[in-house]
Amino acid sequence: MDYQRLLERIEADIAPLVGSGTPAEYIPALATVDPAQFGMAIADLEGNVFGVGDWRVPFSAQSITKVFALALALAEGGDSLWERVGREPSGNPFNSLVQLEYENGIPRNPFINAGALVVTDRLQTLTGDASSELLEFLREESGNPEVGFDAEVAASEQENGDRNAALAHFMASYGNIDNPVPALLDHYFWQCSIEMSCADLARAGRFLARHGLRADGTRLLTRSGAKQINAVMLTCGTYDAAGEFAYRVGLPGKSGVGGGIVAVVPGRCTLAVWSPGLDSQGNSVAGVAALDRFTTLTGLSVF
Ligand code: GLU
Repeated sequence: MDYQRLLERIEADIAPLVGSGTPAEYIPALATVDPAQFGMAIADLEGNVFGVGDWRVPFSAQSITKVFALALALAEGGDSLWERVGREPSGNPFNSLVQLEYENGIPRNPFINAGALVVTDRLQTLTGDASSELLEFLREESGNPEVGFDAEVAASEQENGDRNAALAHFMASYGNIDNPVPALLDHYFWQCSIEMSCADLARAGRFLARHGLRADGTRLLTRSGAKQINAVMLTCGTYDAAGEFAYRVGLPGKSGVGGGIVAVVPGRCTLAVWSPGLDSQGNSVAGVAALDRFTTLTGLSVF
């Protein structure tokens, strides 16, 4: 398949949508990003990467990092993580507290903030330095040693982090957080601040398309483990619009409020798309449309 021509066609098709929606407003560093940007990249299993538009521009990966943190926590610590976090869509906003009380401090899934805090807590216990381990992993998988934290975004997350602090303390009261909450939050905010381009993300996500094999050919996850993460992405990866995303795109995907989305065609390729304008559920308007075009034009969805 000629991925480069395909990407050029998709870019032209969705051009009228670039700039639609609103960049995330909860921190100034994201609110001031120019919404008229769009990039898209495809990484195939052989290591080739194709891209269009702003595909080499680093942006705030935000919640996309939750997939990589989950993969690392499962790879290093095994399936007992699932005793502390569920695998069902939440149907509530990503930072919601409501379900935690009647589910005894067990978050619905690892991609809402509460679940991601549990995952980072687990990674912290396993490694002693969750955010640095994650960064190192992303550098290795993307092949880009320049992938880094954005200190301004991390500080801003910290200043505006009352809701995440509330989630972490609430879960700690149920015994579902092992590390001191301030240290956990610190790692979580640094994690959210990681900056990557579409090219970096498409490369870094290839282990999900390669059934668990890392960039260097070693195994991160079993075939079954990779399938399981893809399944959770499909059902829970795009906030409370995962049903709509499955309907339109039909691929496992994980979005972030920076306007990025990573999507996986198992056994074939990984896609990353970025455009900062978000819809009311927090997914990139042009990004979802571009992935929709990809599966419509190629027939390459999991369905
Ligand atoms: N830093 C955000 C938060 O924890 C993550 C937002 C996201 O991409 O969903 O509130």
